[in-house]
Amino acid sequence: MERLQKVLAEAGVASRRKCEELITAGRVQVNDEVVTTLGVKVNPALDKIKVDGKSIRRQTKVYVLFNKPKGVITSAQDPEGRKTVTEFFKDIKERIYPIGRLDYDTEGLLLLTNDGEFAHLLTHPKHHVPRTYLATVRGVPHGSQLEKLSQGIKLEDGMTAPAEVEYQDIDQDNNEAVIKITIYEGRNRQVRRMFDAIHHPVNKLKRVQFGPIQLTGVPRGRYRFLTQDEIEELR
Ligand code: URA
Repeated sequence: MERLQKVLAEAGVASRRKCEELITAGRVQVNDEVVTTLGVKVNPALDKIKVDGKSIRRQTKVYVLFNKPKGVITSAQDPEGRKTVTEFFKDIKERIYPIGRLDYDTEGLLLLTNDGEFAHLLTHPKHHVPRTYLATVRGVPHGSQLEKLSQGIKLEDGMTAPAEVEYQDIDQDNNEAVIKITIYEGRNRQVRRMFDAIHHPVNKLKRVQFGPIQLTGVPRGRYRFLTQDEIEELR
């Protein structure tokens, strides 16, 4: 027996959090009875589970590593009609959704899946999954400024956790520097805000690693499936 919200999330209905909302909103039925409490356990092989009157089906789990180009939005739909990540997965029949997000102007490694439980695990703040970025910033920050970023810096939503920060490249001619930064949180626009706080705004941002998974070898705008070993390592 498994918890109803877990079964719904695993069937690709939505994230576990969202599935809990569907249950409390009275949109889920088990054997033709509406269930609105969250503790209920079901047998996914035997019980007839419906959302908004439609049966859910167990579906194959899919785990994708995508190299997101800049100028693409990390959600299924955009009210402003901008290009969304969904357009890149037309040949995947399962409905996959992003694990966390990257800004419209950020490029690089984005994971997508239809495994709600897995997505929940990786985005939960208590798991501290490391995320590594290459940030091309305006000007060349001083070592002491990078030290501040690595120790934690005050942003409007509080101090950042310790991070790893190092120079990757310095381009004096263009007055730019590339800084490699690994953070253990996933706050909104966090890397950009950290560099704003030391007055070296980000000109270009690329995520190159998420947990143990590296972007290497996947061209921009393309994807590959994660291997079974990679899925295990992330869990
Ligand atoms: N930090 C940012 O500022 N933007 C991203 O897209 C990811 C991390």
